[in-house]
Amino acid sequence: MLVVMHPSATSAEISRVVEAVEEMGYEARPMPGAQRTAIGIVGNDGRIDSSRIAALAGVAQVIHVTQPYKQVSREWRAESTIVTIAPGVSFGGNDVPIIAGPCSVESETQILEAAHAVRDAGGTALRGGAFKPRSSPYSFQGLGKQGLELLALARRESGLPIVTEAMDEEGAHLVAEVADCIQIGARNMQNYSLLKCVGRIGKPVLLKRGMAATIADLLLSAEYVLSEGNDQVILCERGVRTFDPSARNMFDLTAIPTVHELSHLPIVGDPSHGTGVRDKVTPMARAALAAGADGIIVEMHPHPDSALSDGAQSLYPAQLRALIDELRAVATAIGRRVTPVAKGAHQSSDNALQTGTSGPAAGKH
Ligand code: PEP
Ligand code: MN
Repeated sequence: MLVVMHPSATSAEISRVVEAVEEMGYEARPMPGAQRTAIGIVGNDGRIDSSRIAALAGVAQVIHVTQPYKQVSREWRAESTIVTIAPGVSFGGNDVPIIAGPCSVESETQILEAAHAVRDAGGTALRGGAFKPRSSPYSFQGLGKQGLELLALARRESGLPIVTEAMDEEGAHLVAEVADCIQIGARNMQNYSLLKCVGRIGKPVLLKRGMAATIADLLLSAEYVLSEGNDQVILCERGVRTFDPSARNMFDLTAIPTVHELSHLPIVGDPSHGTGVRDKVTPMARAALAAGADGIIVEMHPHPDSALSDGAQSLYPAQLRALIDELRAVATAIGRRVTPVAKGAHQSSDNALQTGTSGPAAGKH
């Protein structure tokens, strides 16, 4: 339930509503807004008798949230939430950041080459898994802690913020020390203890849709993070399993406007896992942006043919550059903008790699 106060409600009236909610045995979450304050009520299993609250001074309206997810719903919060992972890198506003990089961190040379290629192509953030959830236990599992150290180095060298996956609670604390945004992968979308853990950590979270998850399942998983007090959640459409083997997954473009209707949280598109085929990544990235995605996350490897994971869906650096140029045109057509790389922060990869002096490129792109 959500209690919307009158724009002229006093702080004493707001406090009285909070007290009344607590007396009824529920938890009150006041949310001051530009025009008026709303007070969310959580901790109830079923419908609350709202008559007592509705009668209190200063109350304009009581809204019963009809969805099973509450805090992530648009009923709960009408304005879109903006999630900022680093200075100048926000999801959910007018700007559209591009997260790019290899599936896995493989070596120092590989991740630095990738980071500079992303930067040179006009990308906004670097992705790369140190902890990899592989379908087979015999496949490359990631470099673990060493991979995180290499990501920290790549951020220092390129200035790009880092998005990387955590697979369990212990890993989440390690990832949080390095990452600007903690990725929860499709296979862990319903790992509720992990979701609660990243909710408590409080860093931005990129939550991927499970491969057999409905949109309601995805939003309920996000609710776990918000229920711990962390509303910095970026949702991610990455395709769902289907009967047709012609692509790795079926990239569900409709999920993007559907999520915007149901939730105030931003959603990004991952056409790499969404298709699994390099040649299909560019058209589906364009389509995701046109459909309203608040960002694109895409796999790019400096040498995809020797990648230790997901090489077949990884773009070549030149393809990433071409894609971002096209995304700029799509963004302009729909009144948005691909997040610009800050002037003066740009370093050519050769220069940065040879001299090692690029330093933290100010993180203000
Ligand atoms: C990944 O981002 O490399 C990944 C494993 O993605 P997903 O969880 O969507 O399969
Ligand atoms: Mn991958």
